[in-house]
Amino acid sequence: MASDFEYAAVAVEHAQRPRNFGALDSYDGHARVTGPCGDTMDVWLQIRDGRIQQASFTTDGCASSLACGSMITQLATGRTVEAARGIQQEDVLGALGGFPEETQHCALLAADTLRAACEDFINGGRLDRRDESAAPSSCESCDTASCAAKARRQDESEKEFAERQALERRLCRIGYKFLVLSGKGGVGKSTVAANLAVSLALAGQRVGLLDIDIHGPSIPGLLGLQGQQIGVAGGDLVPVRMTDHLAVMSIGFMLSSRKDAVIWRGPLKFSVIRQFLKDVAWGDLDYLVVDSPPGTGDEPLSIAQLVGSPAAAVVVTTPQELAIADVRRCVSFCEAVSLPVAGIVENMSGLVCPTCGEHIDVFKRGGGKALADEMDVPYLGAVPIDPAIVESGDAGIPFVEAHRQSAAGRAFAEIVRTILAGQEQEPVTTTTKRED
Ligand code: ADP
Repeated sequence: MASDFEYAAVAVEHAQRPRNFGALDSYDGHARVTGPCGDTMDVWLQIRDGRIQQASFTTDGCASSLACGSMITQLATGRTVEAARGIQQEDVLGALGGFPEETQHCALLAADTLRAACEDFINGGRLDRRDESAAPSSCESCDTASCAAKARRQDESEKEFAERQALERRLCRIGYKFLVLSGKGGVGKSTVAANLAVSLALAGQRVGLLDIDIHGPSIPGLLGLQGQQIGVAGGDLVPVRMTDHLAVMSIGFMLSSRKDAVIWRGPLKFSVIRQFLKDVAWGDLDYLVVDSPPGTGDEPLSIAQLVGSPAAAVVVTTPQELAIADVRRCVSFCEAVSLPVAGIVENMSGLVCPTCGEHIDVFKRGGGKALADEMDVPYLGAVPIDPAIVESGDAGIPFVEAHRQSAAGRAFAEIVRTILAGQEQEPVTTTTKRED
């Protein structure tokens, strides 16, 4: 535990002599969750008549994780499953007399794991994960002998190999991945990502939309999904299903407050993004659209390194010089990480006067096209400024669904057609193996 913070005696006691430590032989609910710090916690529950008779935990984490696991199992014992499911990070911290900011995430991990174990019971899961802990010795998701996930690399531990295989198993069920990037914030990247995903889903494709904008996850708001809870089943994170064809996972569903992510550093972000790619049960997807944070920092780098192929970047910009300069860096970044560029979208490209229909160039126009030519990447099209885009976003209604016939709606449709036409020219592997 950190030395310059005065831990309460109760926290020290639970860290040094954790209660309820160890797996239960028989149990009615169980979950294993990996937290933002990379630590893993397991919680097991024995439940009679809807009430928790016994709760136990293990963790590979630090003393703070031990204290939080110990406290949360103590808090859960004797409560109804519903009441235990509602125990929050703050409840654990309060019961332990407070933690310094850098270890508060241990309480979040404990609360997430207990909630997941309760949901495992509620969903009738009672999945015996003792079988799962025996990691498969080889990847069984396909017969491709040349697949890099078939054999352990020399520089890899067994654990790293198992993790890489789990990631590959998940990714190889996704036909194509689009990473939506921008040089800077506020240019409409999330708007483009959300509307691209919704357009593909409306066209009958099976689509996943993954929001890894750790510092400003806006997808839940844009699609009216704020406050949704992600599920946990069989140790996997279950995305929020918006329609039969569109499943959504956002880092925003997991953060209790924006403050949670602010202190995350590069390696932590990498591990959270890898968990998102590895542990979300998308099933078979034709497309995964990823809303990445702006710039070329830790998160875009992590996702570009992890996502594998086939994948391509959709780069969003506004027409001004300043935004264009940032996009130039963004395209160079894609080159550096060997990520193909599907093309550039120029957003907020002029305004169509609602009265006379005349095109007014508010921020100039054509910068995106000029840059695409200069950098020899495809130009995907321009979306005009439309107040209805802001209104739809604020109301949580997908713009392309509500305003198909507007100039901006038609522009989105044309962009999606261009992206797909470009993508069809490349070999695409779509697998159809069903989830067990
Ligand atoms: P980013 O993800 O790049 O930060 P957002 O997609 O969150 O940007 O968009 C920023 C703001 O601009 C939002 O309020 C959004 O509704 C608005 N916006 C995006 N594109 C347009 C457009 N073409 N016309 C009008 N407003 C737009």
